[in-house]
Amino acid sequence: MLRDMVRKISINEFAPNAAEIDQREEFPWRNKKILEENGLLGIQVPEEYGGAGAGMVSLAIVVEEVARVCASTSVILTTQALATDPLIIAGNHEQKTKWLKPMAEGSVLGACAITEPGAGSDVTSISTTATRKDGGYLISGTKIFITDGGVSDVITVVAYTDKAKEHKGISLFIVPKGTPGFSVGKEERKLGIRGSDTRELIFEGCFLPEENMIGKPGDGFKILMKTFNYTRPGVAAQALGIAQGAMDAVISYCKERVQFKKRITDFQGIQWMIAEMSLKIELARTMIYRTCSTIDNEPDSRDIPRLASMAKWFASDTAMQVTTDAVQLLGGYGYSREYPVERMMRDAKITQIYEGTNQVQRVIVSNQLLG
Ligand SMILES: Cc1cc2nc3c(=O)[nH]c(=O)nc-3n(C[C@H](O)[C@H](O)[C@H](O)COP(=O)(O)OP(=O)(O)OC[C@H]3O[C@@H](n4cnc5c(N)ncnc54)[C@H](O)[C@@H]3O)c2cc1C
Repeated sequence: MLRDMVRKISINEFAPNAAEIDQREEFPWRNKKILEENGLLGIQVPEEYGGAGAGMVSLAIVVEEVARVCASTSVILTTQALATDPLIIAGNHEQKTKWLKPMAEGSVLGACAITEPGAGSDVTSISTTATRKDGGYLISGTKIFITDGGVSDVITVVAYTDKAKEHKGISLFIVPKGTPGFSVGKEERKLGIRGSDTRELIFEGCFLPEENMIGKPGDGFKILMKTFNYTRPGVAAQALGIAQGAMDAVISYCKERVQFKKRITDFQGIQWMIAEMSLKIELARTMIYRTCSTIDNEPDSRDIPRLASMAKWFASDTAMQVTTDAVQLLGGYGYSREYPVERMMRDAKITQIYEGTNQVQRVIVSNQLLG
């Protein structure tokens, strides 16, 4: 039922303006409103905090269906999950009531700010600091590449409360928009997901009361790693949706295209490329559902970090390969903006990079197996 509902919305509401959103490079506010009105921005958040309480398999299904037609719109879903999950994992009741509930209901957008000019894959090399002051903390530092950083009402910020303790000195803070000392910097111009807002965020002695810390001082890294276990399958579902959308476009185009007096789908070389696309898409889907159902049904399983990393790694590589082959199969039309596959190829690339590059996923998987 959920898939049918989201597919209908995606086809009727999101597909028609996906190319325009990409070309105008504008945040799709109208689509955000539709996600909010249909209760899709807190699908995995417990019901008592305003969500649907429907779990990770449901989140994956929603993300996949939206990404199948408009990856930029699906980024709203995955970013909201990235912002809400630290609160689900470690927020106290007051924080959940104040911040998580409106985010789950969709009236408030959230972002999560980890990356800095000198710190990407290695989170421990961040320079942002949170210094104790008058019953709270002063945050100073600059974040870059923050998805929805300019459109969000609440930002989860990662900072050192004690640098000497390395990863055990990292803490998480909730920064509401408008807090003095917090400003939004330049917007990044990007290869793909051009309808998502990617920003620099600047913190200059930004004062936050103690109650804005998520968890205890030094808990930040642990909360963040657990968050990624839940959000990487979401990025994987985004990649899966992009790949599925590209295969849909290939099938409908190739069945019509005639060359050498034959439909090009009569050539075995074309048939096999499409069969291989389908194989990888189904493998990615199976892996994502296995990961999500493990999270839903065995939340303490030690397999979760490895499964989440492998799902994101495999699905994003699949998206890149399927979309590149899709451009090839449409020939010159594939390279033209008249057809959606060139956009899908550009959109697919980010899924191999954010929330841990696919090299970092290999590090996580091998560490868990060998470490
Ligand atoms: C569109 C977009 C949206 C983003 N959204 C957010 C967001 O919302 N919040 C946020 O905090 N960040 C966000 N990011 C940042 C993103 O998570 C980082 O870009 C990513 O983690 C990689 O970090 P980096 O760019 O610094 O690359 P680096 O870490 O400098 O990596 C460079 C290269 O070295 C490789 N590498 C690094 N370490 C190793 C290793 N140990 N072994 C092998 N290879 C390695 C990497 O795989 C990569 O190929 C976003 C980025 C983009 C482009």
